[in-house]
Amino acid sequence: MQLHFIANGGVASTSGRTIAVIDPSDGQPFDEIQRGTPEDIDAAVQAARQCFDSVWGRTAPAERGRVLMRLSMLVTQHADELATLEQRDCGKPTRQARADALALARYFEFYAGACDKLHGETIPYQEGFSVLTWREPHGVTGHIVPWNYPMQIFGRCVGAALAAGNVCVVKPSEDACLSLLRVARLAAEAGLPAGALNVVTGYGHEVGEALARHPDVQHLSFTGSPRVGTLIAQAAAERHCPVTLELGGKSPQIVFADADLDAAVPSLVNAIVQNAGQTCSAGSRVLIEQPIYEPLLERLAQAFEALRVGPAAMDLDLGPLIRQSQQQRVWDFLSDAQVAGIPVLAQGTVVDEAPETGFYQAPTLLRDVPPQHRLAQEEIFGPVLAAMPFDGEEQAMQLANGTRYGLVAGVWTRDGARQLRMARRLASGQVFVNNYGAGGGVELPFGGVKSSGHGREKGFEALYGFTTLKTVAIRH
Ligand code: NAD
Repeated sequence: MQLHFIANGGVASTSGRTIAVIDPSDGQPFDEIQRGTPEDIDAAVQAARQCFDSVWGRTAPAERGRVLMRLSMLVTQHADELATLEQRDCGKPTRQARADALALARYFEFYAGACDKLHGETIPYQEGFSVLTWREPHGVTGHIVPWNYPMQIFGRCVGAALAAGNVCVVKPSEDACLSLLRVARLAAEAGLPAGALNVVTGYGHEVGEALARHPDVQHLSFTGSPRVGTLIAQAAAERHCPVTLELGGKSPQIVFADADLDAAVPSLVNAIVQNAGQTCSAGSRVLIEQPIYEPLLERLAQAFEALRVGPAAMDLDLGPLIRQSQQQRVWDFLSDAQVAGIPVLAQGTVVDEAPETGFYQAPTLLRDVPPQHRLAQEEIFGPVLAAMPFDGEEQAMQLANGTRYGLVAGVWTRDGARQLRMARRLASGQVFVNNYGAGGGVELPFGGVKSSGHGREKGFEALYGFTTLKTVAIRH
């Protein structure tokens, strides 16, 4: 049974209750986590506050960097163990789980090196004044994390927050806690002082909400659905707490007739099947210029038919979805497609070894999806690719920008001027041209516009977000 991690130790919940941990590959429980309470959150926030006031808030930036670098090395050493935990918890194929563990190490490595490079400025002002700016940490930061990439999302927000001198209280998804509880113990081993990093598990409406409303939390970083993002923003607004929202997406991949299709096809497929489509930046709409609509669909169909889905440990193209309700959600979208007469062009195969009790879904390619249909508008969060044709740049832009989201976009064309025109006009936090990084790379600031959220994580931008700027004007 797992405990909360508060002040560098395992703590049982005041509720005396637990939540079962389910393996998505067979639908069976195999562990338990604490069902946290607002009192547990309060204990974690108090431990964090004490650590900030007495230790971490006073630790020299270079020393913070050394601790984070040791943590990065420990994560690398324990990458297989962490990957195995997250694999069982989330149903990730082995390659994906291992890549996520190594990405976590990389986040800590990047932010370790950035701790002592957060400079302020001096500002020329009136005669007789010296004016300077300091970047100061917020203090206690709250991090609410989803289940799709627990290690990666934890790494990018907690790494940046600690590097900037903050302390953290983390609320993982109730569906994916195991790897993060283990990382928290590695952080203590790396020398992170007691209270700097606390992990409290439980349901969103119980502990997540308590964290969002806690008066001593000075910054909130939320990654999850737009629906819950709205609740978090409302809670934050009531006490004027800064908040970063990393929400959903319906990311377009726009393929022009002059594109290099040999490069595009595997990338288009990977962008929707990676992590079984449960990726905020999944390329879930493919917009194809008329002259290549049929030939590209044919190539995509061939690729989809070759995809295999099975238990996480088999390390196939796709593992199961996270839980039964997510599987049901994908089924609902697909039955809507059937009712609307949207053709299924191709599907992958669920292998015979997949237990019936697991949450499997074959990747599905739909063609001729009407742009206003919910299959082209709403985030499905499963391996379903909606294809539609377009005629010329202007229509491509209208279709691409025609949803409530704006997280990531892909553009495939050899025309340099068009690459820049498209990149400039796409309403999107990131644009990839002739590749689809799916948000990859710690160096690249990441975040959305419109209902995909606001604020940026990753890169130096994230560090700025985890600080507040103080202006000091001295009259001589
Ligand atoms: P979710 O919004 O249901 O849950 C996210 C987190 O919020 C979980 O820890 C959950 O317990 C917590 N939560 C739920 N209700 C809450 C409440 N009332 N108050 C406080 N916290 C609460 O999202 P999910 O299903 O875990 O994740 C899928 C969503 O996350 C998708 O929409 C996806 O696009 C998005 N996502 C975005 C990014 C990004 O970087 N933009 C990355 C990954 C996932």
